[in-house]
Amino acid sequence: MKEAVARKVVRRKDYTPYPWEIDQLCLRFDIDRRITTVKAEIQFSRLDQAGGNNAIVLDGEGLELVSVALDGRPLAAGEFTVDADRLLIHRAPAKCLVSTEVRIRPHENTALEGLYPSGKFLLTQCEAQGFRKITYFPDRPDVMTRYEVTMVAERALYPVLLSNGNAVGNGDLGNGRHWVRWVDPHRKPSYLFALVAGDLEFIEDQFTTCSGRNVVLRVYVEKQNLDKCGHAMKSLVKAMQWDQQRFGLEYDLDIFNIVATDDFNMGAMENKSLNIFNSKYVLAKPETATDDDYQAIEGVIGHEYFHNWTGNRVTCRDWFQLTLKEGLTVFRDQEFTSDMQSRAVKHIRDVRDLRSRQFPEDAGPMSHPIRPDEFVAINNFYTMTVYQKGATIIRMVHTLLGEAGFQKGMKLYFHRHDGQAVTCDDFLAAMADANGVDLKRFGRWYAQSGTPEVTVRSEYDARTARYTLHLSQRTPPSHDQASKQALVIPFAFGLLTPQGQQIPLQLPGEPGPEAFTRLLILEQEQQSFVFESVPCEPIPSLLRNFSAPVKVVYDYAVSDLAVLMQHDPDAFIRWEAAQLLAQAEIMRNRDCLAQGVEMHLLPQLTEAFAALLGDRDRDPALLAEALMLPGEDYLAETMKVIDVDGIHQARQFVKRALVMALQELFEHVYQGLNQGGVYDHGATSVARRSLKNLCLSYLVETPAGVSLAEQQLAHGNNMTDTLAALAALVYSGAAAAEQAMASFESSWKQDPLVMDKWFVLHATRPGADTVDLVAALMDHPAFSLTNPNKVRSLIGAFALGNPTGFHALSGSGYRFVAERVIELDRLNPQAAARIATAFNRWRRYDSLRQNLMQTELERIAATENISPDVAEIMSNALGKL
Ligand SMILES: [Zn+2]
Repeated sequence: MKEAVARKVVRRKDYTPYPWEIDQLCLRFDIDRRITTVKAEIQFSRLDQAGGNNAIVLDGEGLELVSVALDGRPLAAGEFTVDADRLLIHRAPAKCLVSTEVRIRPHENTALEGLYPSGKFLLTQCEAQGFRKITYFPDRPDVMTRYEVTMVAERALYPVLLSNGNAVGNGDLGNGRHWVRWVDPHRKPSYLFALVAGDLEFIEDQFTTCSGRNVVLRVYVEKQNLDKCGHAMKSLVKAMQWDQQRFGLEYDLDIFNIVATDDFNMGAMENKSLNIFNSKYVLAKPETATDDDYQAIEGVIGHEYFHNWTGNRVTCRDWFQLTLKEGLTVFRDQEFTSDMQSRAVKHIRDVRDLRSRQFPEDAGPMSHPIRPDEFVAINNFYTMTVYQKGATIIRMVHTLLGEAGFQKGMKLYFHRHDGQAVTCDDFLAAMADANGVDLKRFGRWYAQSGTPEVTVRSEYDARTARYTLHLSQRTPPSHDQASKQALVIPFAFGLLTPQGQQIPLQLPGEPGPEAFTRLLILEQEQQSFVFESVPCEPIPSLLRNFSAPVKVVYDYAVSDLAVLMQHDPDAFIRWEAAQLLAQAEIMRNRDCLAQGVEMHLLPQLTEAFAALLGDRDRDPALLAEALMLPGEDYLAETMKVIDVDGIHQARQFVKRALVMALQELFEHVYQGLNQGGVYDHGATSVARRSLKNLCLSYLVETPAGVSLAEQQLAHGNNMTDTLAALAALVYSGAAAAEQAMASFESSWKQDPLVMDKWFVLHATRPGADTVDLVAALMDHPAFSLTNPNKVRSLIGAFALGNPTGFHALSGSGYRFVAERVIELDRLNPQAAARIATAFNRWRRYDSLRQNLMQTELERIAATENISPDVAEIMSNALGKL
């Protein structure tokens, strides 16, 4: 393959500390949408005592340098060098002041990194390397300093001027201009800098911390959204309370601001005291946001707030350590949601997400450990692996140490490292030292990529009443690592009788049974565990609570799965058993299809689903999770050569056959839950809506169900019910879908977030012809290629969430997506690279599709001036076998 650009690979092992300390940074912004002037004064002290004159290297990209001075003296040409990504001052004394003035052009910034426009305001995004697009500075997380920021702007256009820390002064300059000064007393790295300037309004609340500090809380939005901020504010207050109660962590400034924008590459950003959010994770009211949206807002508000300690007070030494802050903070937000909502449902959803999105990453050409060893574009490593698998690894530490031990470790971590930029090893060392344990071997999880497989065998000896469990682990070689080591795998385990009773577990040498669930530690390639006094041949309950991010290989009898599904005490295992039953039935029918045998449903799945639907004692939200068939992406992962159409058809067949067999039960449950009444967002109502709408998604495959969906659409008083009914109609291919989509559009065309949902439904409608519709929708007035939410909802949803559309045999889906990647790359490389990952798994398909995808990959790679972001994805996909 032709290398489109020279790849500049950055390696973890090449880390060297920055030789200067920065005592203070004073910034002055003269704000204007077309040209903003940035003056910076940086106070340098040489760290080592080398003496004499030393060079200073500053990062900078796309900046127009007006002047540079050293200790007040303008530098002449020859005393400094400027190139595309840095400013080099050749000789500087051990203590000095560097002053620069640059011009930047926010209105031309479509990459949404640095300073850029959104609606009527300007804002910044600096993580990971956006600060260098604002001013010359050592733009790396281990360079921390105090910031003083002065902003000058026209008052009519930019009445609100925000930055980090506390506002310490403001004034009028005449001529309609004003200024505001902010000082952040906490030292921070440049990626946590933020600035917002524009015409925004806010809602306000107060929070008193446990030590009595009064904090003003504000959520800033554009005027038309002021009625949709209440839930975000409530979530913030809950997050602040929870972090005090569970982690003993208190907020450390007098003000906390959140700003919502429609134009944002990520979900949200934890800038010190000035969090900036994608409006998707702030704005909600029952008519426009679903229950899932409400929960996601609470979770993301929590996540960004929790970063104040895990990320901001203690930050990363370098970007390879990204999981230090992200894995830990995702773990914390998962715990927050679990304490606020249903722990079991949250965990099951996280596991589903990990398996369908992270496991493929682990097995693909971009596979990397949670702490990667090298990168070209760091933006490509904001991945499911670093975030979600990273959180699972923190969860294992928590499982091994227990809550009290984990909190002891957190205390020591903050005691040692508050105010520092540290590594993942420092975190593990604090956990180990606080508990007097050795976590060195466990640390391999940070260095090794891939999903381990744990193969399970067992024997039962009736004569001695002994049960022996043999566990062996293997991590398949991956693109980045040929050989793998054995990992420390906490494996939660239990036994049931064939009637579903729990068997107390006793290991040899123990005086009696100790518990019904035992945490086995698998750390060798193979280990065996013997259990005494087992009264009958038992059913093993494997990896309870998904205690490690591994695949379990064990051949369950269908009858055993039915017992586990009904009787296991662990909610994850009950869910898993239902999923395994459904998976087996779908894949068996896929085989029928491939062999030209007529598809048919075996009675076991129907019986199991009937039992679930008839179970009135269970949490409806958990039932809904169990009754949801495994997704096509997850099923695809179980095949060597992915059969896109076979999986889709077999899954559809099983769904229809189930509702044909159990229509009355589905209707009965649906009607019992469809009580109408005033909408409320309490956990009970949310759980009931989730089961009701799950039933509707089956029922819509029948004519009676189509009318139910139409009625629900006509009478629904909340977006959860409306969207569920609409999705049911669209996905079932009902004739009524088109009209329903049109009337939804006319009701909501003014609301960008609701229109995103409408785009997603169009883009994910199964079928080879969906690509034409998606292409046509690019001309829709609500669509814009410069807005990441729109790109994600239409192009991203199609490329990553519509297997039969994207993988259409004509190659039309591939061509369409490749063209969009090329087009988008000129505007927003980060967004383009994310879409480009849709091609990552191309070698897993049949040869016809492989050829079609390879052609598109090569076309993208050969495009002139392709960004390093997209080039890295292409070269990994194509280059490694
Ligand atoms: Zn984060």
